[in-house]
Amino acid sequence: MKRSRMICLFLCVLLLTGCTGTVLPDSKAGADEPGEVTFFAMDTVMQLTLYGDKTLLDDAQQQVGALERRLSVTEEGSEICAVNQTGSAVLSAETAKLLTQALELCRRTDGALDLSIYPVVRAWGFTTGEYGVPDEDVLRGLLSCVDYTEIQFDGMSGQLTLAPGMEIDLGSVAKGYTGDRLIDLFGQGGASSALINLGGNVQALGSKPDGSPWRIAVQDPFGEGYAGVLDVIGQAVITSGGYERYFEEDGQIYWHIIDPDTGCPARSGLVSVTIVGNSGLLCDALSTALFVMGYEDAVEFWRGCDDFEMILIREDGRIAWTEGLEGSFAPSDAFSGKTEVIRRD
Ligand code: AMP
Ligand code: MG
Repeated sequence: MKRSRMICLFLCVLLLTGCTGTVLPDSKAGADEPGEVTFFAMDTVMQLTLYGDKTLLDDAQQQVGALERRLSVTEEGSEICAVNQTGSAVLSAETAKLLTQALELCRRTDGALDLSIYPVVRAWGFTTGEYGVPDEDVLRGLLSCVDYTEIQFDGMSGQLTLAPGMEIDLGSVAKGYTGDRLIDLFGQGGASSALINLGGNVQALGSKPDGSPWRIAVQDPFGEGYAGVLDVIGQAVITSGGYERYFEEDGQIYWHIIDPDTGCPARSGLVSVTIVGNSGLLCDALSTALFVMGYEDAVEFWRGCDDFEMILIREDGRIAWTEGLEGSFAPSDAFSGKTEVIRRD
C-alpha cells in the first residue's frame, strides 16, 4: 500500500493548492509564475512550489540530500548510523541542534515521543520492509533499552553517548525539521510565497501570491478522498496517520507509530492526528506523540499549550478540531463522521 496512498495524498494536496490553475509544472515559468520540482528523498515524494528565484529550488533539493545523508537511520555513513553502530559520537552543530530540540519534545510529551524506540520499530520491519509481529520475548528485551532519559547528550560539544543496546532514530521529526530549513532558505532567498509538501507534511511560506490562503487537504484515513480542507498562511500542517505505513497479518493491521510503553503499534483510538503551527519540527514531533497519547490525553495536552492547533480523527469516524482552527478548517461533505470543536475549557 503506502506508496499508492502517499501518491494519492500528494495529488490531493496538489489539486487543492493548484486549483487556481496558476501552478505550472516546470521551472521555465516566468517571474510571476511558480517554479516547481518533484523528487524522491527521505523515503517519500517531495514537491516544492516556489514563487521567486527558481534557483532556490536546486539549493533546496541539495539541502534535503545533505540532511538525509546526515540524519538517515538506514544510510550507512550518516551521523545517526554512526552513533547507533558505535554507541557514541560527536555530532555536527546542526544535528546537535536538532537532537537538543527533539529531546526537549520527548520530555514535553512525557515520553510519548521517544527517539530511542528505533530497535522496536525495526523489529516490526518498518525500516527494513520485512514486516512481521515480533516474538514477545524479543520485544520485551528490546523495550528494556528504550528510554530517552538514558540518552547522554551535551548540546554544546555535541557529544552523544547511548546506553548499551540503545539506538536512536529521528524519523518522527526529520521531515518537519527539513521543512523548517527549506522555508528559511526560501525566505532568506527573497521568496514570499512557497509551498512545500514532504510526503504529506505540508509547510507554507506566506500566502498564495494573491494574498489568499493555501488550501491543504487532510487525508481521509478511511478512504481515498479527504476528510477536510484547511486554509493556512505561513504555517506547517503535519499529519501522522496509521494508514501512512502499515502491514496486515492474520486480519490485523499493524502500523508504524509505536507506543513506547508497550512496544506495539499505538492503539489509542486515534487514526489520524494533524498538527498546525509555526514550527514544522514541533508539529512533526507532536503529530507522532499525540497519536500515541490518544484523544483525551491529546486534548488535555493541547489545553496546556499555546503553540499549536490540531485535527483529530478517531477510529469510529468522529473528527474534532481545536477552536483556533474555526473558520479555517472545514470537513468535506463526503466525510461522514460526526464533527466536534474542541474548546479550551
Ligand atoms: P511520523 O510519520 O512523523 O508520525 O513518524 C513515524 C516514524 O517515527 C515511524 O516510522 C518510526 O520510525 C518513528 N516512531 C514511531 N513511533 C515513535 C515514537 N513513539 N516516538 C518516536 N518515534 C517514533
Ligand atoms: Mg512526526
